[in-house]
Amino acid sequence: LGILTLVTVSGCSPSPANSARSNEADRGKLSVLVTTSFLADAANAIGGDDVSVTALMGPGVDPHLYQPTARDQTALRSAVIVFHHGLHLEGRMSEQLESLAASKRVVAVTRDIPVGQLLESMQGYGTYDPHVWFDPALWKSVATTIARELTAERPEAAARFQSRLSEYLTRIDQADAECRRLVETLPPEKRVLLTSHDAFRYLGRAYGFEVIGLQGMSTESEAGLKAITDAVDLVRGRGIRGVFPETSVARAAVERVARDGGAVLGPELYSDSLGPADGPAGDYVGMLTTNVKRIVETLSEPAGVATESSQSRPSTR
Ligand SMILES: [Zn+2]
Repeated sequence: LGILTLVTVSGCSPSPANSARSNEADRGKLSVLVTTSFLADAANAIGGDDVSVTALMGPGVDPHLYQPTARDQTALRSAVIVFHHGLHLEGRMSEQLESLAASKRVVAVTRDIPVGQLLESMQGYGTYDPHVWFDPALWKSVATTIARELTAERPEAAARFQSRLSEYLTRIDQADAECRRLVETLPPEKRVLLTSHDAFRYLGRAYGFEVIGLQGMSTESEAGLKAITDAVDLVRGRGIRGVFPETSVARAAVERVARDGGAVLGPELYSDSLGPADGPAGDYVGMLTTNVKRIVETLSEPAGVATESSQSRPSTR
């Protein structure tokens, strides 16, 4: 075991390609690369001081369309362990992640979720909806997988990973309970969530919302005219009080639905990335509760208020 430990430690020393910053503060830490801010949150929470986490995508970056830069390539090469979501979330990185897997531990963090708990993609083809972070139960599975892989790479820190994992899972449970309490205040007929793209189906399943995305599950194609006019009819027909733009997706289509449907353009939801670190959605539990709070508050607005406030807003930007 002593030899194994030595090998592991030397294997994690920062390579010359890394910045000066990593040389001092990160000496001896397990070098972890993650694709999204969600994974950075989990890896940092579980890894703590034992890891140095680099995330390719910051707040507001769309993972469906993301292509790694030259600098990312260097970071991918120098990391000891790479966590990505899988389920084709990082659609333009698949080949690269596959080839990296030949030389290092590359983990699709959704791989331990039982297939029966995944939602099939709207497009079919035997693919699954990758937006699993919106179901706290599934995110707990992701966190557990991350802890297991960190432990496999650095067994001497197993106890610390385990205790941080327990704390993280507890925080997720608390956020989940808070979200359920909030949703309970919203009458069931108002639980309709209309957003730019189809990221929220797991949230809908977890908290009992009917979910409509204008753009489909990936952001590759823009919302079609028919999707927009259908949504306008739906908003008018059912008296939906508000619709929601997203931080990582163009908002023109959802703005138009709000305007033409006479609904409030709600506050932005954090769909495919966390918010800035110093904001309310800077970590996973903050993202989840902020989204649910915004949804419930907006959809709770009494009839009549919606039309007025949507007319007083600028309709385009
Ligand atoms: Zn998405």
